[in-house]
Amino acid sequence: MMRTVTVVGASLAGLHAARGLRDQGYDGRLVIVGEERHRPYDRPPLSKEFLTATGEPDGGLGKLALTDPEDEAELDAEWLLGVRADRLDPASGAVGLADGRTLRTDGVVIATGAAPRTLRATALPGVHTLRTLDDARRLRAELRAAAARVVVIGAGFIGAEVASSCAALGLDVTVVEAAPLPLVPQLGERMAQACASLHAAHGVSLLCGTGVATLRGTDRVTGVELADGRVLPADVVVVGVGVRPVTGWLEGSGLALDDGVLCDEGCATALPGVVAVGDVARLARPGTGGTVRAEHWTSAAEQGAVAARNLLAGATVEPFGALPYFWSDQYGARIQFAGRREPGDTVRIAEGDSDKDAAGGFLAVYERDAIPTAVLAVNRPKPFTRLRRELARGPRLAVR
Ligand SMILES: Cc1cc2nc3c(=O)[nH]c(=O)nc-3n(C[C@H](O)[C@H](O)[C@H](O)COP(=O)(O)OP(=O)(O)OC[C@H]3O[C@@H](n4cnc5c(N)ncnc54)[C@H](O)[C@@H]3O)c2cc1C
Repeated sequence: MMRTVTVVGASLAGLHAARGLRDQGYDGRLVIVGEERHRPYDRPPLSKEFLTATGEPDGGLGKLALTDPEDEAELDAEWLLGVRADRLDPASGAVGLADGRTLRTDGVVIATGAAPRTLRATALPGVHTLRTLDDARRLRAELRAAAARVVVIGAGFIGAEVASSCAALGLDVTVVEAAPLPLVPQLGERMAQACASLHAAHGVSLLCGTGVATLRGTDRVTGVELADGRVLPADVVVVGVGVRPVTGWLEGSGLALDDGVLCDEGCATALPGVVAVGDVARLARPGTGGTVRAEHWTSAAEQGAVAARNLLAGATVEPFGALPYFWSDQYGARIQFAGRREPGDTVRIAEGDSDKDAAGGFLAVYERDAIPTAVLAVNRPKPFTRLRRELARGPRLAVR
C-alpha cells in the first residue's frame, strides 16, 4: 500500500510520472523534490528561440512553463523546490535532503535527469554550459552585451543549435568538434555529413578532428587553444560536450548504477518501490541483452505513465516500448529522427538531395535487409510523420 510517493527531479520526466500516478488513481501523498527553484519548464527552447528572442526577457517561466495553476491543483502535490535530494535509503524508505530534512516514503520516482559534462579550466567568466533556464539567461545576457565572436565546443545537437542561434544573432561563430564528423553514432556517416553541412551553408565554420588543448584568458575567456596549436579568439565560449546522468546522490543506495540508473524494460529498478524515468534512466532492451538511455524530450515525457503503472502494480506489468524519436531545430531547418538504427544499416533517400542540398530538405529511410529501421527528415514533416507512424506499428512493415 503506497501512502507516500516521492518524485526526485521536478522537470519533464518527474512531472509526467506524477501526472501518471494521479491519472492511474493514486490518491496518496505526492511529494516532488527539485534542486532548481523553478516549477517544471521546457528545455528545448533554451538553445533555440529563447536565445534569439527580441524584447525584454521575461522574469518568470512564461511560455516555458509545463504546468499551470489548474494542472497544479489537479496534481495536488507538495513541491519542495530549491533543495537537492542527497541520499536514498530504500531499507528505511528515506529520501534525505541537502538541508537536513528526511522524507519518509513508500515509493520513489528517480527523475534527476542529466547534467552537462565540462572541460578542465572552464570556470572562467565567458564560458558557458547550457542545461537550465538560469544557464540560458546568463548566456543570453552575454550574447547580447559583449559578444562578437563565439566558439562552440562540441557539435552535437545542443552545440549545433546554439551555433545556429548565435549565427541568427549576427555573431561570428566557430564550432569545434573532436570527432572527424559530429553525430555519426546517432545518424551514421552519410546523414551526419548532410546535417553537418548545414553549418557551412549558414556561414558557420565547423572544425572537426581536433580537440581543445586549453582556454585562454585570465579575468575572462579570450580564446580557445586547439590541440593542433591553432588559437580561436572568443568573447564567449559555449561547451556542449554531452551530459552525464545525475546519479551521484544514489551512491550507497544499493541501486545498480552504470551511466544511469539500471532498470528493467518498464522503468523499475531492482529495488522494490523504486522506478526511474527520463534522461537518468537506463532501460533494458528486451531480446537484445542490451540497455538504452535516451536523452530526448519524448522518451522523458512518455516513460512517466509506464513507470507510474509499474510502481503502483508493485511489478512490471507494462514495458516501455515507444519508438525512439527526437527533433532538433537548426538554421531554420527542422531535423526529425525516429526509430532504431544500427551500424551497418543502409540509407535510402526517399525525397530531396541530402548530398548536394541538405538545407533544401530531404527524407531518408534507414534499412536492414530491406526492412525500414528508422527515418530521418530535414524539413519534411508530413512524410516523416507518416513513416514514423508506420514504423511504430511494427518493424516488419515495409515503408515505401
Ligand atoms: C538546451 C536543451 C535543448 C534541448 N532540445 C531538445 C530537442 O530539441 N529535442 C529533444 O528531443 N530533446 C531536447 N532536449 C532534451 C530534453 O530536454 C531532455 O531529454 C529532458 O529535459 C529530460 O527530462 P528529465 O526530466 O529526464 O531531466 P531534466 O530535464 O534534466 O530534469 C532533471 C531535474 O532534476 C533536478 N535534479 C537533479 N538532481 C537532483 C537532486 N539530487 N535532487 C533534486 N532534484 C534534482 C535537476 O535540477 C532538473 O531540474 C534539450 C535539452 C536541453 C538542455
